[in-house]
Amino acid sequence: MENTKIEWCHHSVSLYWGCTEVHEGCFNCYAKKLAHRWGHDVWGNESPRRLIKSAFKTLSKIQKQAQKKDEIHRVFIGSMMDVFEKSMPLFDDKTKLIVGNTGQLREKLFEKISIGEYPNLMFLLLTKRPSNINKYIPESWKTNPPHNVMFGASVVNQATADKLIPQLLEVNGFRFLSVEPQLEELSLLKWLPNGQLHWIIQGGESGNGRRPFDIEWGRKLKIECALSNVPYFFKQVDKVITIPEDLMVREFYEDSVSNEQNMEVYHGR
Ligand code: SF4
Repeated sequence: MENTKIEWCHHSVSLYWGCTEVHEGCFNCYAKKLAHRWGHDVWGNESPRRLIKSAFKTLSKIQKQAQKKDEIHRVFIGSMMDVFEKSMPLFDDKTKLIVGNTGQLREKLFEKISIGEYPNLMFLLLTKRPSNINKYIPESWKTNPPHNVMFGASVVNQATADKLIPQLLEVNGFRFLSVEPQLEELSLLKWLPNGQLHWIIQGGESGNGRRPFDIEWGRKLKIECALSNVPYFFKQVDKVITIPEDLMVREFYEDSVSNEQNMEVYHGR
C-alpha cells in the first residue's frame, strides 16, 4: 500500500492490518470489510493484527522519491489500522506465528521520524483514539513536536466532535480533523477561531450502504473555516454525486504559510 486514492494525501502506508470499532464512523469500515472478504481474522480486541512486512521499505522508497523531486509528500498512517490503538499481538501471515506487537511497530516508526529518516515526508497520524496520543508518542515530542507530523482526529457528528476535539487539543503540535464520513450537521466554531486546529478535511461516505451527506453541511463548514482562516479540504459527497463547484475547495495546511515558512515548518529550520 503506498500510492492511494485518498485525495488529501500522496500515500497511505499501514504498518499492520486490523482494528476494533470505536464510534459510528466505523460502521462501514472499508478495511474491516476487506479483511472479512479475504478471510483475515484481525478485527476486535481478541484478534491479533496482521503484520505488513513491506511498510518500512515502502516508507524509505517514497522518501527517496519525494527527495528526488524536492517535494514534501503527505503520508497517511494508515488506512488499514489506527496508529494509536492500544498495543495488540502481531502475526506473520506466512508462518501464522506471533512475531511481536503493534506497539513495537509504532515505536519503531516514531524513532525513525525522530532521528530524521524522512525529511521529505509529512506524516498524517489520524486516529479515532486521540486520548491515546500523549500515551504513545515519545516524551520528547510533548515539548518539541516533530515538524513533519500532524496529529488528526476523525469525527462524524457533534457528539464525536465534542468528545474527541478536546482530547486532540491536549496534544502539542500540528493538529487536523477528518470530518469523514460526516453523518449529521455539526459546527466547529467552538474551536476554529482559537487557531488550535490547523487543517480541516470534510466528506461524506461512499460505497455500498453509504449514509447520506447533506451538501449544506459542507457549505456550513467551509464558511466556518474561511471565517477562521483555517485551510479546508472538501473530499467528496459520496463519490457518485458530483461535488458542487462552490464546494470544490482543496486547501492544504502548507498553503496557509509562505514557501519559506513552509520549509521551516517541515524541516524545523
Ligand atoms: S478506527 Fe478506523 S480502521 Fe478502526 S474500525 Fe474504525 S474506521 Fe476501521
